[in-house]
Amino acid sequence: MVGDSASGDAHEQALFLSAALEAERERLATVQNSIRRVLAMPNLRSGLAEMSRALRAVGWREIIVTLLDEEGQPRTRLVGGEPVPVDAGTPVLPSGLWSRFQDGALESCRVGGTYVVERHCAAEVVGEERAPVVFAPLNVGFGSPVGVIQVIGETGDEHFSPDLLRPLDILAAQAAYMVENTRLLARASQSAEALEEQVEELSMIHRADRELSAHLNLERVMRLTMDWALRRTEADTGLLMLMTDDGTGLVPYIVMGHVDRALFPHDAHNPLPLTAGTIGLAGRFGATQYVPDAQEDAERIPFIPGARAHVSVPLRMRGEVLGVITLAAVKSGVFDEDVVAFLERLGRRAAVALDNARLYRQTEQLASDMAALYNAGRTITSTLNRDEILRRIARAMSETLECSSAVIFDYKPETQEVQVLAVHRADPDATAGESLPPLKHTYPLASYPAFQTVVEQQHSLALRADDLSLTYTDRAHLLTGHLHSMVLVPLVAQEELMGVAALIEGRYPRVFTANEVYKAEALAGQAAIALRQSLLFSEIQELETLKTEMIRMASHDLRNPLNNIMGYTELLAMSLEESGVTIAQRMYLENLRSSSETMRVLLEDLLTLERIESERMTEWQSFDLASLVVEVVESQLAGAKLKQQVLSLERGDEALAVQGSITHLRQAIANLVSNAIKYTPEGGHIVVSVSQEQGRVAVSVKDDGYGISPARQARIFERFYRAREPGTEHVSGTGLGLSLVKTVVERHEGRVWFSSIPGEGSVFGFWLPATPRLRGGGA
Ligand code: ADP
Repeated sequence: MVGDSASGDAHEQALFLSAALEAERERLATVQNSIRRVLAMPNLRSGLAEMSRALRAVGWREIIVTLLDEEGQPRTRLVGGEPVPVDAGTPVLPSGLWSRFQDGALESCRVGGTYVVERHCAAEVVGEERAPVVFAPLNVGFGSPVGVIQVIGETGDEHFSPDLLRPLDILAAQAAYMVENTRLLARASQSAEALEEQVEELSMIHRADRELSAHLNLERVMRLTMDWALRRTEADTGLLMLMTDDGTGLVPYIVMGHVDRALFPHDAHNPLPLTAGTIGLAGRFGATQYVPDAQEDAERIPFIPGARAHVSVPLRMRGEVLGVITLAAVKSGVFDEDVVAFLERLGRRAAVALDNARLYRQTEQLASDMAALYNAGRTITSTLNRDEILRRIARAMSETLECSSAVIFDYKPETQEVQVLAVHRADPDATAGESLPPLKHTYPLASYPAFQTVVEQQHSLALRADDLSLTYTDRAHLLTGHLHSMVLVPLVAQEELMGVAALIEGRYPRVFTANEVYKAEALAGQAAIALRQSLLFSEIQELETLKTEMIRMASHDLRNPLNNIMGYTELLAMSLEESGVTIAQRMYLENLRSSSETMRVLLEDLLTLERIESERMTEWQSFDLASLVVEVVESQLAGAKLKQQVLSLERGDEALAVQGSITHLRQAIANLVSNAIKYTPEGGHIVVSVSQEQGRVAVSVKDDGYGISPARQARIFERFYRAREPGTEHVSGTGLGLSLVKTVVERHEGRVWFSSIPGEGSVFGFWLPATPRLRGGGA
């Protein structure tokens, strides 16, 4: 029965189909579950192991998963979910099939996303009969595969049904995305790390900026920064070098990690020349020097033995190179473009910080230079003694420039020589160093070309023993004297050359900077003026002595002839009286008498002044000024009485002790009282008072006399000045009285004062410091 058989077939078919469907559903479920589990797996390896289990569950006997690196070489292999070792020689697929696949030669074997290289296919492609190879490349996008899953069937020679191949296809795609995701994740986590690094970098910079603005401690901040750069980059050595002021070399500022000091002996006195290695190049050209692997290039950073990688980044600011940051590592390849970029970023920040600090330092330096110059100048000018000034100049110069010694020379134009006037050695105990000339030693300019230039052109000159452009003679002088460097500065005041200062460095080869020479010149200017002043002063002193001597001699020499004149005038008067004197003769005699008297007083006053000025303080004593005032007033009572004046005294009972010369103070008080009598009309009143207040003893003489007009008041203490107010024309005097008072009082550390109203009267007074010993007892 056809129908029956047909219906029976149909039934069988239906049963078969439903079983197949069921099996397919089961496989799909396996695959789906597997995928679900794979996705839940913590990492790629366990994901791939789970996938291998699923493939085995759908009917494959062995599963080999090979993951490839960026170069397409096997990196990881799992056999049955278990990792097995791979090395460079491990083939991706047997029999060179992988390269055939890459060439596109296996396209005829492709079933969907899988490749089935069966026996005959293999013979065709590989040229030999062999067991079939089934694999699925792990493809992502259009790039080359990230791996491959190779499967082996249950028997050696089966026909591979789509039911077996489809799960492989699906799981291979899944695996490819898993690998890709893992890579992306790795990259993402890498970029998270990069992000973190950036955050760290930013916070570091922020911290450095904050520290810098808070303390301006550049060194500390730079040290922090370098330390951090070292840790971040796996560098072994970090160097931060600063450009010298003259821009010809680099001086280490921060040195971290390993540096061979013997090969790198650089410091402020011995900068690294810009011709040296990568660091020098970076400093000279202001461009980053990057050597990732210095196998054959190691001499470029010779001071870090075995350094294989190095980066030198210039610190530039406004087109100027301020310094160079260098990182070096013994391991090659630890520095990549990222490190270079990082260091350049760091360099930019460091340059800003350096520039700020430099500006700040320059301002500070300027202020302290000014202060130092001012102080040095003041020290030099605070004396008028020439030898002392010379010693101070030498010391101030060597201290200001921090050089090992300074010598001051006198210039003798007549003989064309310079002579040593002062020598200062900064460290007198220094064993090594320069030999300095003895005092008074002279040098003929003709054999010292440098001195000759300085003297002739009156500008300073810096000389160095290692400067080959120097004249042979100059160099020879420096070398024999063990002088590494010397600056010669002319001492010029008002276009007159007072001498030459030599600033010497005998400790190490030193380049005196332009700024240092400038400082020396500034000081030399002040020194020259001080020297000139001391010369003028000694000239004035000589004149003063001469004048005093002349006055003294004249006074003494005039006194005897004057006494003769006065004596013979009296004899003449007596004999004329006897022979009967005419009215005219009596007038002549009176004139003779009064003129000689004026001369006598003048001579006496001059001699008194001279005595006061030359008297030594050792002759002083402590005495009661009040008693002295009483004594003087008593001695002047007769004079006052002659003019019908009332002379009175106001004083307390206590003794008022002062320290000084009784004779001179007696004279001073007498001058004030006699002036009051002289410049007060008949019948006037004069009050003398003496008192003590606030550690001072005060004397005043008040009269109701002619007074002095304001226009003349300013000059009355001048020698020989006489005010000649109306009514005082007949009053005789020398104009020396008040100047004597002032001299005496000021020598006693007191002050004179007065006030006067024309027509009403004057008050003259002075005070002296009271003697402390008696002050308490007297009060
Ligand atoms: P002289 O020898 O002229 O008195 P002084 O030096 O003592 O010289 O005084 C200077 C001038 O000061 C006097 O010439 C006089 O004009 C003025 N003078 C000094 N004391 C008085 C006084 N008590 N009253 C007014 N004028 C005075």
